[in-house]
Amino acid sequence: MKNLFADIIIANTNVDRPFTYIIPQNLRDDIIPGCPVLIEFGKSIKKGYVIEIRESTDVDIARLKQILSIPEKELSTDENLLTLAIWIKHRYGVSFDKAIATVMPVKSGVEEKTNNEIYLNIEADKIKTITEELKRKRKTAWARLLEELEIRRNISQSYANKELKVSSTSIKRMVEEGYILVGTEKKSSNPLLPVLKTLGIEDFNDIVNAKDYTLNQEQETAINIFKSDFEEGRKNTYLLHGITGSGKTLVFINMIKYVISKGYKAIVLIPEISLTYQTVLRMAQHFGNRVAIINSKLSKNERFYQFDRIKNDDADVIIGPRSAIFAPVKKLGLIVIDEEHDSAYKNENVPTFNVRDVAKKLSEITNASLLLASATPTPETYNRAMNGEIKLLELNTRAKNTSLPRVSIVDMREELKRGNRSIFSEKLKSLIEDRLKKHEQIMLFMNRRGYSSFVSCRSCGEAIKCKHCDVTMTLHNNNRLVCHYCGYSMELPKICPECGSKYIANFGTGTQKLEAMTRAEFPNAKVLRMDTDSVSKKNAANDMIRDFARGDADILIGTQMIVKGHDFSNVTLVGIMAADTSLYVSNYTSAQRTFELLTQAAGRAGRAKEGEALIQTYKPENYAIVAAAAQDYKKYFENEIAYRSLLGYPPACYMMTVMFSSIKEEELDISAKKIIESIKSDIKFKKTIIIGPTTPAVSKVKDYYRKLVYIKNTNYDILLDVQRKIEENLTAYKNVGAIYDFN
Ligand code: ADP
Ligand code: ZN
Ligand code: ZN
Repeated sequence: MKNLFADIIIANTNVDRPFTYIIPQNLRDDIIPGCPVLIEFGKSIKKGYVIEIRESTDVDIARLKQILSIPEKELSTDENLLTLAIWIKHRYGVSFDKAIATVMPVKSGVEEKTNNEIYLNIEADKIKTITEELKRKRKTAWARLLEELEIRRNISQSYANKELKVSSTSIKRMVEEGYILVGTEKKSSNPLLPVLKTLGIEDFNDIVNAKDYTLNQEQETAINIFKSDFEEGRKNTYLLHGITGSGKTLVFINMIKYVISKGYKAIVLIPEISLTYQTVLRMAQHFGNRVAIINSKLSKNERFYQFDRIKNDDADVIIGPRSAIFAPVKKLGLIVIDEEHDSAYKNENVPTFNVRDVAKKLSEITNASLLLASATPTPETYNRAMNGEIKLLELNTRAKNTSLPRVSIVDMREELKRGNRSIFSEKLKSLIEDRLKKHEQIMLFMNRRGYSSFVSCRSCGEAIKCKHCDVTMTLHNNNRLVCHYCGYSMELPKICPECGSKYIANFGTGTQKLEAMTRAEFPNAKVLRMDTDSVSKKNAANDMIRDFARGDADILIGTQMIVKGHDFSNVTLVGIMAADTSLYVSNYTSAQRTFELLTQAAGRAGRAKEGEALIQTYKPENYAIVAAAAQDYKKYFENEIAYRSLLGYPPACYMMTVMFSSIKEEELDISAKKIIESIKSDIKFKKTIIIGPTTPAVSKVKDYYRKLVYIKNTNYDILLDVQRKIEENLTAYKNVGAIYDFN
């Protein structure tokens, strides 16, 4: 037989190119692109991944080695994901090894191997005949195991090994011959049990039949557009833009049902924080056991099991956070990204992709549709919808018969002028009292992002900004203000540089302080506080939400956590305490984040009854705050896009940040400066905007000093060229490394 060859990427090495190996006869049927393999490399045995199979090679065959074996307990990546990995390599400038590791399916863990449960895989009434036959064949251990299983239904592998003296090899052979099954909860009544357990649910009977709403006209229209495109083979990217409470979930659930009816499958991405009991329940109500769910609390084996179910076509819908995009789905028809604006979709590690872009590519590779859903889409996505690259589907009314809450703005500078120094405005105080009297519920939202790191004036509302950049300065421990964009620093002033007021302070109010003040102001109210500190215990968040939904408390205080997707029917007032804090994060997305948070927070009010929201701010004229109060996305978008075009931020420009780091401070300073200078002087990068190197907000992490550079260009490929050039230059400095982040 003619030889077959495989091009293989070696895992965990710095050599970023494929090597050719001979495929031995006995592995011919099993080796496919994406397959993990063991090979001899240099003097040791290494793992690698097959990226291509070929019939000929230019290399001298006598010098080639054979593939040794395929490691057990690992799934191979399918070809679509491999194509995606190669795209990731080029798009984010990472090594093959890194790119493939990113899309690789999870491995089965070894740590819980002995806890694997063994189940019968034959009919109970056949056990007698089979065991007798096994005994005749002197396979007494096999018979012993089956007899035990007849009585106990399932037993652990360690019990089988130790008590029944059935070896692991025997167990493996019995699985192969179809007598038994081994796996974590493999045969338990519900495959979602491990996931439900992480959410604090022990009993699946909680799930009742789904109430089937009649779709309203807008929902119907959106679904029909999708269906007829799909029917005609047109695979599009859609933006489902619907106000809070407009019933977006029901729209994509129906789209998924349609896709399944055509024999396809769907991936639904949700931010991990929204992956709560409510969402799981909702999906399970519609898709029953045909759902696979992945979340970060699952053990390695449980994740493996969910992936395994997907591979075996035991699930039609895969729900999970960012990483679920790499689920090994066959016949993918639709990818949904719910809350597409959420920052959790950005991978913070290398490769620093946004899952939106990866999903877009995957939808092209697999010829699937992509649906992005949000009440507050990112300006990038909405811009594409305006350009016609994305098809816009809109929901402009709330699904239940309520209207959007009334939203008003309170100017906290005026409160101060009138002598009210409390964090509650007069209006908020009287509204809270009103609701307490009516036994309706209240949510108080406090944005802690950027908390206390900037300084602003309570008289004029201005935060202290850098003289040279339009960026808020950050307060450091030594009482100096530093610009993290250009590096300029100054002494903390005693009076406001704008208006001369002495009421200048850092925003020192966190949720704990707000809780104390609320209790003091409203001593008869029952108050709950929810933030990362108060819910660090497992399931505390779910318990708290359940308690509040049941009406066990009057006021729920919280951070970002309380605004995401929860549907409390008795909440008729939402107070937003310091709407400005997120405006002062020194980052071009600060207005976007503020608009998102305010819209989502206000959207929690009046889900069932008429509701009201109040925004307290020192910057009532800011466009993000004005547009959020008017609940006017389009108005916000027009302002945002104008601002970004003016300053050259995405989507007007592509941006790459480079973080240099080193344990040696001096070498870092010199190398970063030299490398960036050589790029600035390169004629090829004449039109590239380069800012830095500067010292970032966190200037040292785990003994590594850091320097930051911003690179901007309207052409993405130029950024990759800059990256390559930096990498070349870096080889001269062995103690310095760089990490690249795009947009
Ligand atoms: P969104 O995700 O757009 O904020 P949801 O999908 O959470 O909105 O829906 C808001 C509420 O409206 C939910 O309680 C949902 O069950 C309900 N709902 C959705 N569609 C309908 C409908 N056609 N008729 C009545 N209620 C609906
Ligand atoms: Zn001032
Ligand atoms: Zn500056």
